[in-house]
Amino acid sequence: MLNGQEALELERAMARAAKEGTRIIGRGTRKSDGARVFVVSSSRDQFRGYIVVVHASHLACECPSRKVCKHRALVHLALKKERDAAQAAKDRDTAPLYRSNAPFSLFK
Ligand SMILES: [Zn+2]
Repeated sequence: MLNGQEALELERAMARAAKEGTRIIGRGTRKSDGARVFVVSSSRDQFRGYIVVVHASHLACECPSRKVCKHRALVHLALKKERDAAQAAKDRDTAPLYRSNAPFSLFK
């Protein structure tokens, strides 16, 4: 998935985000194509946010950075947390009637 260089850039971007207090300030869906979008705060201008679009294979950020920017790093982390939570919910034990549609009777 990530090679060593990308993993390192991601880690640095996360450190910058933490240091500068960059955070996700909005989430939504783009009307034109249904893509998920995140708005990440800008560290330079408090009235501005950068839009990060979630594509099938990558994240696209509108900021001028050519490397892994902190905006994409934050969204990457948020999506990973979501996936982990979904997996945890799947692994959790479910009620017998939820996991099986075997016939049953209310009468003993
Ligand atoms: Zn960015």
